Amino acid sequence: AASSSASTVRQVKLDRESELRIEVGYDSSLRLRLLNGTAEIFGTELPPEIWLTFPPRLKFAVFTWYGATIELDGSTETDYTADETPMISYVNVHAILDGRRNRAKASSSDGSSTVQGPRVIVVGPTDSGKSTLSRMLLSWAAKQGWKPTFVDLDIGQGSITLPGCIAATPIEMPIDPVEGIPLEMPLVYFYGHTTPSNNVELYKILVRELSQLLERQFAGNIESRAAGMVINTMGWIEGIGYELLLHAIDTFNINVVLVLGQEKLCSMLRDVLKNKPDVDVVKLQRSGGVVSRNVKYRQKARSLRIRAPRSALPIGAEPAADPTRLVPVNINQDLLHLVLAVSFAKEPEEILSSNVAGFIYITDIDIQRKKITYLAPAAGDLPSKYLIVGTLTWIET
Ligand code: ATP
Repeated sequence: AASSSASTVRQVKLDRESELRIEVGYDSSLRLRLLNGTAEIFGTELPPEIWLTFPPRLKFAVFTWYGATIELDGSTETDYTADETPMISYVNVHAILDGRRNRAKASSSDGSSTVQGPRVIVVGPTDSGKSTLSRMLLSWAAKQGWKPTFVDLDIGQGSITLPGCIAATPIEMPIDPVEGIPLEMPLVYFYGHTTPSNNVELYKILVRELSQLLERQFAGNIESRAAGMVINTMGWIEGIGYELLLHAIDTFNINVVLVLGQEKLCSMLRDVLKNKPDVDVVKLQRSGGVVSRNVKYRQKARSLRIRAPRSALPIGAEPAADPTRLVPVNINQDLLHLVLAVSFAKEPEEILSSNVAGFIYITDIDIQRKKITYLAPAAGDLPSKYLIVGTLTWIET
């Protein structure tokens, strides 16, 4: 049963193939370590005996294949042990993907043909565990020495960079259970809004740009092509959301579709993909441990909010027929507290198809002196003079 516990050191013994599900307390962190046996957090093995500190509100599970003893120090919102998990089916998927990676690698080194490594897309409703499954598949692959590419198309709760972006990054090591996805060299495209319905065409264009860039990278890198990719998607699976899933499956040349926890979506996809024999549609069970997050929590998680009525348009713009035209932005007070992307574009015509170097946050605007003050991750000149504005604002909490 779920329990709230006081801040004392305690031990939890886990039987084989069971997990300890934890929600860290709301305002204090939790320390945890592996005392004996072996255990992993979303695919990444815990080091023996070393204390790890988890921040407030984090929700995660410590799973063991063969049994383990875990020590906890600190208070939790909930912690309970579960022995029914879908982990065996998830690791079976991993084994199949691993076989395909080996075949792809072998075929490219004997020069016979160029077999594609697995290109996996994880789909399902919100809170079905898509990000978590993506993470496990990536970490298990990295543990075996592969460097699969993680692609995050979720502009609401993306885990690579800011919301409002789509991004990709190679995963070279199992993902750190506390730090998350490493941020060294992500490829980022700035969409600028947290829902695709603001500008579906732009979203599709950026997805296509990202896929073409990855395709060029794979062409020159046998290892990463064989390792393949894992794509995480949004939880929006109806109407335009469903169309966008089909668009992504097509654009990235997906060969494995993993459907989490939705019979209907699975049969729809099987039906629409039935004349593509290279695409496998696999239904997987959702974990009972996936925690539903309400709207408030999601907003808090992104620490960003969407500006209300004009949110669908760049500042100062009026609706017009072409949703992907560029509109110059006037310098005015509306820019205050906005998050702007710094484009790699050299010319304005390149802005739409360029990925971004990073972000700045506008902290002050002095119209009279024509001066904008901003926060940037590093001092010095920005790598480009082109800044892109969407509807992302950041309110310090
Ligand atoms: P969204 O569509 O909103 O992006 P999602 O389908 O990607 O959601 P996840 O982010 O994977 O869902 O999971 C939701 C939450 O549940 C996360 O905080 C995650 O850490 C947590 N979670 C997932 N699996 C477990 C588990 N087995 N035990 C405890 N917590 C879990």
